[in-house]
Amino acid sequence: MDCIFCKIVSGEIPAQKVYEDECCVAFADIHPQAPVHLLVIPRRHIASLAHMGNDSDEDKKLLGNLLWAANELARRQKLSKGYRVVMNTGPDGGQTVDHLHLHLLGGRAMHWPPG
Ligand code: AMP
Ligand code: ZN
Repeated sequence: MDCIFCKIVSGEIPAQKVYEDECCVAFADIHPQAPVHLLVIPRRHIASLAHMGNDSDEDKKLLGNLLWAANELARRQKLSKGYRVVMNTGPDGGQTVDHLHLHLLGGRAMHWPPG
């Protein structure tokens, strides 16, 4: 499969990896939008949040693991004033890479509403 994030998981494409466990990998976003901008992705290829299994316990657990990893990384990065987690989904959501990923943004105050 020609997926850039699958290639980062396998090591075929280099990335600044900061975290790995049995289900997730996290690495620095190549175009950071905040002082801390990490991407947390599942090792398994899933195109987007909208592609999760309808009643899949495995997928439900995976989503929990991704969020758990995001908070663990925020703690390690000492984002004690808070942070933002974003999952752009589909064309209207602004998703540009079709492998499920969670953005962890921190180190500055975020704005609302988003663009
Ligand atoms: P999204 O627009 O939500 O699909 O997010 C995709 C993100 O992946 C963007 O913030 C890109 O900067 C980032 N990105 C794309 N290619 C790479 C790469 N090779 N290494 C790290 N981050 C990447
Ligand atoms: Zn993939």
